[in-house]
Amino acid sequence: MTSLPDAKLYIDGVLRGAEGGKTFDVISPWTGEPVGKAADASAADVEAAIAAARRAFDETDWSTNVEKRVALVTKLRALFEANKERLSDLARNEAGAAWGAVGRAHVDMALDGWDDYLKVFPEVRWEKDYGSRHGYGFETVRKAVYEPVGVVGAITPWNVPLYVNVGKVVAALLAGCTLILKPAPNTPGMGAIFGELAKEAGFPPGVINVVFGADPALAGEMLVQDPRVDLISFTGSTGVGKRIMEQGAASLKRVFLELGGKSAKIVLDDAPNFAMEVAQAMLVFHAGQGCAVQSRLLVPKSRYEEAKGILKHAYGSFGDNWGVFDDPKHIMGPVVSKRQMERVLSYIELGKEEGATLLAGGKARPDKGGGYFIEPTCFGDVTNDMRIAQEEIFGPVLVVIPFEDDNDAIRIANESAYGLSGGVSSGDLDRAMNVAKRIRSGSISVNGGMCIAGDLPFGGYKASGVGREWGLEGIEEFLETKLIAWRAA
Ligand code: NAD
Repeated sequence: MTSLPDAKLYIDGVLRGAEGGKTFDVISPWTGEPVGKAADASAADVEAAIAAARRAFDETDWSTNVEKRVALVTKLRALFEANKERLSDLARNEAGAAWGAVGRAHVDMALDGWDDYLKVFPEVRWEKDYGSRHGYGFETVRKAVYEPVGVVGAITPWNVPLYVNVGKVVAALLAGCTLILKPAPNTPGMGAIFGELAKEAGFPPGVINVVFGADPALAGEMLVQDPRVDLISFTGSTGVGKRIMEQGAASLKRVFLELGGKSAKIVLDDAPNFAMEVAQAMLVFHAGQGCAVQSRLLVPKSRYEEAKGILKHAYGSFGDNWGVFDDPKHIMGPVVSKRQMERVLSYIELGKEEGATLLAGGKARPDKGGGYFIEPTCFGDVTNDMRIAQEEIFGPVLVVIPFEDDNDAIRIANESAYGLSGGVSSGDLDRAMNVAKRIRSGSISVNGGMCIAGDLPFGGYKASGVGREWGLEGIEEFLETKLIAWRAA
């Protein structure tokens, strides 16, 4: 286990501690012990960051100089590449990523997504010609120009912090915005590195600012309430997302929200490899802490007992192959914090009270270390109205629900407040596509296809969010439309 470098704020081009030198401990999810220190930003620090971002947007050429932006964002990408080992240390020590999970969701996927943004950037439309129109006795020529929205507050969670930080920061910068990045208190280092490397790359002061603190809400609420911030891009829980929308209403701020999920994987009765499809639903990767994970498994009633047997066997084979910091093959570590551990364990108790049957796991595992270890857990005999089927647990807990036929599977998948992702497996592509089209969610995988990548728009229906991140759409979220019309001579 490494001791992480101090996480410093980055405000107006200066890497520094917080006002008055206040710091807080970064706690390792593996040990429950401090693994680093982070500056604890005060309201005055956040105020300075907002003022700097506003000034950089209003008084420099950042918003208009596309070549400069692309050159600096490309240079910053190279510096992140050169710091991959440190990024991996941060993912493991702050977010509790298992070594074998670092590539897929933490470091490589985030940097690949960065490359995808640079690839799609030339497709951004900066103007649209609306032609001319005769009216009121004269001719008018019309066109729209698309301009950066202004100052962005980017508020991010701890679960895949690099991926989400890249998703917002790179898109906002390419669009021509200036920004304040506000990472979660559990993962300040994964935010601080943006400041350090932006300074090294030579970004103009104020274009990127990074603030964080022990209080999860202080800096974020200031960003949401301040009229100098034009847009909030938030990823996190649905509860905080609702509060941001309410508080942002006072200044009619643009808000876009990437929120929670309770996505369903539907394995139809004709899935060619039924046993493999069911077994692969095990929710173990990064201890189930992903917004788009398929945490409800839907299987045909006629094959329900068979599916339960497959899962018992799969969890048994997975066994104790998780939770060791130094094992590069492990894809599951601890959950992020004591609070999160208590929350997940309380859902496991609730599942038992609701009458579900434990097919695997169900306990904390203090024998794995002083951190926050919970066994891979699976509940059978679940009905979709149970709270464990409706609420986002955000831990290694899968629930298995039977369905009668395709219509019933679609009904169950859609009877959820959320609509982020999902999956369908069938031997008949048309049948799977028909089901996929009727699921109300922002993305859906058919027969294991990858529906999440840096060149694809990602986001939620219903309580899973508003807006789209990644891909061309992800950059265009940071643009405003200005219509210009001139009277022809
Ligand atoms: P969270 O909502 O507790 O916190 C997210 C961020 O908001 C943190 O930076 C936090 O400090 C800040 N925050 C907290 N209170 C705030 C307030 N009142 N005003 C402004 N900011 C505030 O979420 P979390 O526990 O860090 O992350 C887990 C959640 O994130 C899960 O619900 C998960 O589904 C969701 N998530 C969604 C996506 C997606 O793209 N849809 C991706 C990853 C995580």
